[in-house]
Amino acid sequence: MQEPTAQDEKVQDVVSLALGEIDFDPDVLRAKYLDERDKRLRDDANDQYIEVKGDFSKYVDDPYETRVDREPFNDTVEVVIIGGGFGGLLLGGRLREAGFEDIRVIEKGGDFGGTWYWNRYPGAMCDVESYCYLPMLEELNYIPEHKYSFAPEIMGHTQNIAKHYGLYENACLSTEVTDLTWDEADQFWIVSTNRGDRMRARFVAMANGPLNRPKLPGIAGIDDFKGHTFHTSRWDYDYTGGDASGNLTNLKDKRVGIIGTGATAVQCVPHLGEWAGELKVFQRTPSSVDVRNNRPTEPDWADSLQSGWQNERMENFNVLVSGGDQDEDLVADGWTDIFRNLTGIAAKQASRKLGRRLTGKEKGQLMVMADYKKMNGVRDRVDSIVEDKETAEALKPWYRQFCKRPCFHDEYLPTFNRENVHLIDTKGKGVERMTEKGVVVDGVEHELDCLIFATGFEVGTSYTRRAGYDVTGRDGQKLSNKWKNGLKTLHGFTTHGFPSCFFLGFTQAAVTVNAPHALNEQAKHIAAIMTEARDRGAKSIEASTEGEQGWQDEIKRTARFGERFRAECTPGYYNNEGAENNPNGLLTSGYGGGPIKFFRILEQWRAAGTFDGIDFGGDKHA
Ligand code: NDP
Repeated sequence: MQEPTAQDEKVQDVVSLALGEIDFDPDVLRAKYLDERDKRLRDDANDQYIEVKGDFSKYVDDPYETRVDREPFNDTVEVVIIGGGFGGLLLGGRLREAGFEDIRVIEKGGDFGGTWYWNRYPGAMCDVESYCYLPMLEELNYIPEHKYSFAPEIMGHTQNIAKHYGLYENACLSTEVTDLTWDEADQFWIVSTNRGDRMRARFVAMANGPLNRPKLPGIAGIDDFKGHTFHTSRWDYDYTGGDASGNLTNLKDKRVGIIGTGATAVQCVPHLGEWAGELKVFQRTPSSVDVRNNRPTEPDWADSLQSGWQNERMENFNVLVSGGDQDEDLVADGWTDIFRNLTGIAAKQASRKLGRRLTGKEKGQLMVMADYKKMNGVRDRVDSIVEDKETAEALKPWYRQFCKRPCFHDEYLPTFNRENVHLIDTKGKGVERMTEKGVVVDGVEHELDCLIFATGFEVGTSYTRRAGYDVTGRDGQKLSNKWKNGLKTLHGFTTHGFPSCFFLGFTQAAVTVNAPHALNEQAKHIAAIMTEARDRGAKSIEASTEGEQGWQDEIKRTARFGERFRAECTPGYYNNEGAENNPNGLLTSGYGGGPIKFFRILEQWRAAGTFDGIDFGGDKHA
């Protein structure tokens, strides 16, 4: 090993000054992290998962739906919004506020709610503070019951937004779009659905959601299992009994297995552990699980809130979790704690103590060391809670904090102290195969009555595959073709050749911890463009080739962000399952400059009033 240079020692002094005593060897930890990553890297990356179609489509059938019969629509509307989750609701609301009356939301689920319509598994809750996460609280004069809301309350809130803005009127629920085709002659979109609808729309907005298609692991023999199976996003309460608050009484005499230990499993495993006769949790990679500390809303605090409080709180949270500094941390939770420790805020504090700016090398080393320290804390927490030493060891995450979605939960780890709960650690390999009777790991067959897939959602496959339909723009151009080597948009919202079609979500936009915050900014922006089109009497709007190219240059300029970091991560959807060159990746296809800059760009663009990069086309429409 090389002797440390005088400069290395200086960097170490800065790190110690900021973090206190360093009681670990970073080289040992780095080697361990890389070793754990290597165990999990596989050539098939995203292709290891099965697309839920054909024989597997039963996994996406709607178990909650109360489908209402109706005649097909063959009419014309001004705006079609595809998706009734937060994106569609926010856009619908902002358009109503801007005076748009003729809006139709098309939603695959039997009601509004999006991810909260589908994800009703026991224990489901938001893990970003509800006062920031639930949008339009001031518009609806509503304060959530807890700091982190449970799923039924969130779904209720989405429905209240729909009612408040009159979005149930004219909505097509339990309806899937099957095709979108641009009619150049009439300057309309033709929207076809699985209910036989064929409607014309002046504008369409696709708010399909970034994680909307459940995926299954491509395990050998997945078809052979004769027991009961379902995916967490289509929870089968007829089989388990109970509801989102638990009480899964039908599982009392059942041997239950669950594959996956991501954010979803962390929330539902405590309920399964409480009710199942026996529970086996099949783990490939453990999540990092820190303190949740949920609590009811204090009425005095709620009464003290002044007009504008929610925007202020969302901004405050967004700045902190984007690495910026704020005088006060209004949310003060696990998320802001991580960012305070692992980003520029920590460097700023160190530089204050030092009385000078930190060099790039000092800053970089400080972040790495703070990350090791933070994750040591997460691992120590496992030891302090899980009694069996071998189980505790297996539950420790060996990667940097942002390699995977951080989780926060106070009941997940204690569940492994129950006698009826067993962690089956696959040591990074995943489940070996399935048989008629159960699941095989390391040559041992685990017999089960029921197997639950907590294996997440498609990320990193093509945009149109995840949407479930292709889009045909001008001259018959397919969106799947235009984006086959990666997205091309202006600001993430529009793409040349597909007039008056808008995208919400993480399509070349900035990724935020608090997704509804980003969706709200996007909704405001799209509403502003549509309003301008209406005021000009334009028949269509379209990203110009120059506008689109300008944004590609900006995306390229900011793309370097995080590449090296992700390459050293254990695989997951944040790093395209280890395949960095995937053009459809969640983080690789986004705007790398972060949400603060992104929102500022949008705001300044709107304020300029020149709508650079957008062509307003066609004759004035009636
Ligand atoms: P994830 O994609 O995070 O987790 C899937 C899990 O399945 C992982 O543990 C994965 O292991 C495991 N897995 C996949 N294939 C196999 C296999 N062959 N054998 C064994 N295990 C396997 O999905 P989730 O549904 O948990 O979460 C998705 C996202 O949804 C979250 O990251 C979060 O963004 C969001 N979410 C938010 C919540 C909230 O806000 N409250 C709650 C729940 C979800 P490996 O890690 O090794 O790939």
